Amino acid sequence: MNIQKICDEEVNNLENYATEPLYSFSYRLTIEHTDGSIENFSDQTMLSHYRASNADYSLNFSSVEEAQAAIDAYKAEILGPGDSIPEGGESTVFTMQPQASVTILDQYTGDVKAIVGGRGEKSGSRTLNRATSTTRQPGSTFKVLAAFAPALDTAGMTLATVQDDCPFSYSNGTSLRNYDNSYHGFTTIRYAITESINVVTVKTMADISPQVGFDYLENFGFTTLSQDDIVESLSLGGITNGVTNLELTAAYATIADKGTYTKPRFYTKILDHNKNVLIDNTPETHTVLKETTAFLLTDAMKDVLTKGTGSAAKFSNMPTAGKTGTTTKNRDVLFSGFTPYYTCSVWCGFDDNSPQDNALTSNPKKLWKNIMGRIHDGLPQKDFDKPEGIVTAKVCRKSGKLAVEGLCDADPRGSMFEMEFFAAGTEPTEYCDHHVSATICTKSGMLANEYCPKKLRQTGVYIVGGSSNTEDEPYLLSGDLQEEKYCTIHSIKTRLPKIPQIPGLKNMEEDNETTDEEGQEHETDDNGNREDNENGTDEERPGEGAEGNSEENHGAD
Ligand SMILES: [Zn+2]
Ligand SMILES: [Zn+2]
Repeated sequence: MNIQKICDEEVNNLENYATEPLYSFSYRLTIEHTDGSIENFSDQTMLSHYRASNADYSLNFSSVEEAQAAIDAYKAEILGPGDSIPEGGESTVFTMQPQASVTILDQYTGDVKAIVGGRGEKSGSRTLNRATSTTRQPGSTFKVLAAFAPALDTAGMTLATVQDDCPFSYSNGTSLRNYDNSYHGFTTIRYAITESINVVTVKTMADISPQVGFDYLENFGFTTLSQDDIVESLSLGGITNGVTNLELTAAYATIADKGTYTKPRFYTKILDHNKNVLIDNTPETHTVLKETTAFLLTDAMKDVLTKGTGSAAKFSNMPTAGKTGTTTKNRDVLFSGFTPYYTCSVWCGFDDNSPQDNALTSNPKKLWKNIMGRIHDGLPQKDFDKPEGIVTAKVCRKSGKLAVEGLCDADPRGSMFEMEFFAAGTEPTEYCDHHVSATICTKSGMLANEYCPKKLRQTGVYIVGGSSNTEDEPYLLSGDLQEEKYCTIHSIKTRLPKIPQIPGLKNMEEDNETTDEEGQEHETDDNGNREDNENGTDEERPGEGAEGNSEENHGAD
């Protein structure tokens, strides 16, 4: 089956879109005024005209008829008495919206297997190729390319490295939110890829530096980046000029081909009429990532389709890895990913950059699924190759360090054990330091000391070093406990037996006892500290030590 044909069919299949199509248009109108002067109008002058009074005005209409009526109304407004339209002075081309573009590459050769530049009927010379000519914002598809690829490849980080996903601001002070306004607390890079978490991405970018991320993007083959893009938000794909679908696909194909970038090529050879080779278009390649880095990113991106933001793109049992991309107000929605055979990116959005309803975020995933599903139909099952130099380790998801039995698996939310892949030499060597087991005295809310009664002791597993306003918050060890403050209610004195009243020593006993305003009895210890007897009443009283202590008491007098 012809791959290009499959792509054309799927892009033009209305069932692959969450909503009925809208229609926009490109429009040109030339008016000749009575004085002979000429004035030109277009869809853009029309948009400006109406946006002056209605900022949300868009040129997307629910039918061609409605769009034509809007054009007619505009024309009536701008045509003055005596104005005329010269022959050929008016043209309209309607375009289905939202639009889509698709690129499919063979990641091993760089061969462009299919390009779809738009949906709807092709309209001659004004055809716009949205896959190769249009630049759009890549959104979260950049997270892996700009932040996590360099983090793993050159910055010593791993899929298990954790960042604290909590309310956060860029270094310039602008606050940054996750798309769902929730924060997960300590979060691994693997999970941040799976669930496309902004804060973890930007913190990772800040750690590796935007310059390093930018250099990797250039190495991935992007030619439309600007020096202004060397900022932390580069990692979220908010950039000056955007990228083409073709270059985005070539970047993902680099990960698919074990870290080797191959420049996309539309032909392999040009022959003359005698079949002599005029141009031999041998692939241009260079290494971007270590094989181990490519494998690790691929493995994490498999989760995107099996349990993350890209589940809707999963087809059959062929191994798939990919990443969703969504920009502000869903103006651009993308899915970029690959199998052991092909790499494919799908972009959807309005030509005029209008916002899209949430329902429309499913469009690129559905297209990707249906296109890739058909292309792989009948191809032998294959998995991604695991290169030399990959090791596994059992780590804790809350610290990224070696998991501790009885601790990391006893998190109140469930076991935080995870088997993770590492490039050999980067696996953790230290044990989890974000989980602690602590025994609290429920009476004081502080760490239990050896004198706190058994029934008031409660042992639990807590998180240390995390942040409030995150999913970790209910499990954090409180400030007092972090400062290792031990129970001040129970102490050795509260466990003392009452000193028997010995007739001969009565005066001394009275001296040693005081009565406070409420008439409660207190004992005074050697240092003059008063201990509340009541708090000690439910304790076992160890005989040992009490005797010696009472002797001291007596001796003190
Ligand atoms: Zn742990
Ligand atoms: Zn206590």
